[in-house]
Amino acid sequence: MLPYPFAGPFDYRVPDGLDLHPGDIVMVPLNRREEIGVVWDHASLDKPIAANRLKPVIAVVDTPPMRADLRRLVDWMAAYTLSPPGEVMRMALRVLRPDTGPTLGWIRAPAPPKTARITEARQRVLDRLAAAEPRTTAELARQAETGATVIRGMQEAGLLVAVAIPTPDPFVFPNPDHTGPVLSEDQTHVATALREAVAARKFSVTLLDGVTGSGKTEVYLEAIAAALRLGRQALILLPEIALSSQWLSRFQRRFGVAPAVWHSDLTSRTRRTTWRAVAEGKAPVVVGARSALFLPFPDLGCLVIDEEHETAFKQEDGVVYHARDMAVVRARFCQAPAILVSATPSLETVANVEAGRYTRLHLPTRHGGATMPRIEAIDLRDDPPERGHFLAPKLIAAIRDTIARGEQAMLFLNRRGYAPLTLCRRCGHRMQCPNCTAWLVEHRARHELRCHHCGHNVPIPEKCPACEAEASLTAVGPGVERITEEATELFPDARRLVMASDTMPGPHSAAEAAAAIERREIDLIIGTQIVAKGWHFPHLTLVGVVDADLGLAGGDLRAAERTVQLLHQVAGRAGRAEAPGLVLLQTFSPEHPVMDALIHGDLDAFMTSEAAVRRPGNWPPYGRLAALIVSADTSTIADALARDLGLAAPHAEGIVVLGPAPAPLAILRGRHRRRLLLKTRRDIAVQPILTAWLSRVKVPNSGRVDVDVDPVSFL
Ligand code: ADP
Ligand code: ZN
Repeated sequence: MLPYPFAGPFDYRVPDGLDLHPGDIVMVPLNRREEIGVVWDHASLDKPIAANRLKPVIAVVDTPPMRADLRRLVDWMAAYTLSPPGEVMRMALRVLRPDTGPTLGWIRAPAPPKTARITEARQRVLDRLAAAEPRTTAELARQAETGATVIRGMQEAGLLVAVAIPTPDPFVFPNPDHTGPVLSEDQTHVATALREAVAARKFSVTLLDGVTGSGKTEVYLEAIAAALRLGRQALILLPEIALSSQWLSRFQRRFGVAPAVWHSDLTSRTRRTTWRAVAEGKAPVVVGARSALFLPFPDLGCLVIDEEHETAFKQEDGVVYHARDMAVVRARFCQAPAILVSATPSLETVANVEAGRYTRLHLPTRHGGATMPRIEAIDLRDDPPERGHFLAPKLIAAIRDTIARGEQAMLFLNRRGYAPLTLCRRCGHRMQCPNCTAWLVEHRARHELRCHHCGHNVPIPEKCPACEAEASLTAVGPGVERITEEATELFPDARRLVMASDTMPGPHSAAEAAAAIERREIDLIIGTQIVAKGWHFPHLTLVGVVDADLGLAGGDLRAAERTVQLLHQVAGRAGRAEAPGLVLLQTFSPEHPVMDALIHGDLDAFMTSEAAVRRPGNWPPYGRLAALIVSADTSTIADALARDLGLAAPHAEGIVVLGPAPAPLAILRGRHRRRLLLKTRRDIAVQPILTAWLSRVKVPNSGRVDVDVDPVSFL
């Protein structure tokens, strides 16, 4: 099997003296080049080739073979997602490509000349190097979205210096008996059940749910300890590994050493060492992003998927897959328990519990006497903010009180930048992206309008590009930058911190921010969804949600579910220690079922009513869904292709095809997009239907059809 989008494996001859087995990693000739490949279990799908025409395998690569469970995962995922198997396998081999990179890396110059010009690209490079770890030119260029010339220029300007990249520390074994917590009765019950699941050495799936702060993390660390005591490995998937500094220090406290980490931001050197350490069993615990799923564990004894409801687990480009679901598949192939953890489990997982496929373990109360925060709505119709402002008087008063008591407050708004829309007051012109069906978002601090879909950016114009009126462009609606401006006016003495993915580019700055909050150097945190995730800030007692209605617009299948999950997570940051927490939701519809569920803390009732809405129409999780996304250079070709697909659509009992319709992002990066949805009863598999359907339609060269099985995004 070659790491390319071919339909299946290729045939090669085994030269005399070479003893090959499935899983061996080999070099083979392909189009006069040498390529890496894996000896696959089954033969090629083509007609057999005469032995004398087969090319020979060149050599075996000196690296641990790809084990059977990983090969089965590759085959299974390829079939499930309708992706070429080689492309799936590539994810498991990524680090093995020949090493041509230099061993020199760049760091920031300790005393850069003050006169050096800092362009935006240069600033991105410097931001990337905020963590002291040196990066190679190629890595740095990729991460800072710039070119090698910029980096060379920076060296000439005295901003960067080259150093040798150090060899990563050898991996040290975590000690399962380093320090254990004294578990409460509820926690003991759950921990015992999880330890038994690990000891059983067979496949099982457990949902561990419980309110935020109930000790879910503490308890699943016990399952990992159990795997370590058996000499087995453990994998923990986190939705946003870059923001996991607190998690890592917690692990270190529990086990005495840090685990191996795996995410896209690692240097290639670290990737290679980690990969090998995992394959050789020297890295017993790995915490990672979804790509960690493809690491070569020889003896995986436990998989944990933390915040299992998070949509960040869905990979949207390349092979489109859901890491939570694939983790369950991997657990099955290696006969290990999977533990799905969440305070707000997805309806998919809840349905699996109800159907008896998953077991549920529940932690009902916060640990150590901490109470759940009180959640209240601020009805923006009755208590509106001042004109041109976004914080209601009641929220302002609450922030003032909180800071006066020496506690911390947080404002949450899931929108980067200053304003989502820029409008001409004279002619009504809206500033739109030329490549996408999307408005340009104002980033005032960077003096630019930017498309959040394709990255297109322009300086903020002086006059309206349509009617040429001077100073007529006006910002509509708030982003975190604008809320920060308002907070600066209102609370000039408060020590503020903004946490958004664009102001906080790497794991290092997020860790620094978290540490500053823990040291109580911050009074007011203003952030996007990255503040919602898992943080434990004991002195944070007030959370203000600036726009609780934001996620409800758009009519997405899971909009309500997702809003409940996200807002519950944010709310869960408040009052995690002795002082009780208060959460204020600014909304125009306090009577909406989502607000009602949050205010009354009755998420179960909300999920039951969501289930009742989805069940009759066979919507997921009670039916299956797959999306076809048509894209083409012109709208004519996109329409024609979408129409052909519509005409060739399958007809059968239990199957519905919706569309074609223009995608909400009808143009994305200059490509015209249309969507179709296939919806089936749960007992009908979508893959054979999709394969037959696609085979009936000819796709022109300038068009393409992407398949998304179990879609999460409907853009
Ligand atoms: P969750 O993952 O459910 O949000 P955590 O595991 O983060 O909950 O627990 C919340 C806080 O309570 C953490 O600071 C954790 O260390 C502490 N905690 C939970 N259980 C215990 C325990 N049995 N003993 C001591 N501290 C605990
Ligand atoms: Zn765009």
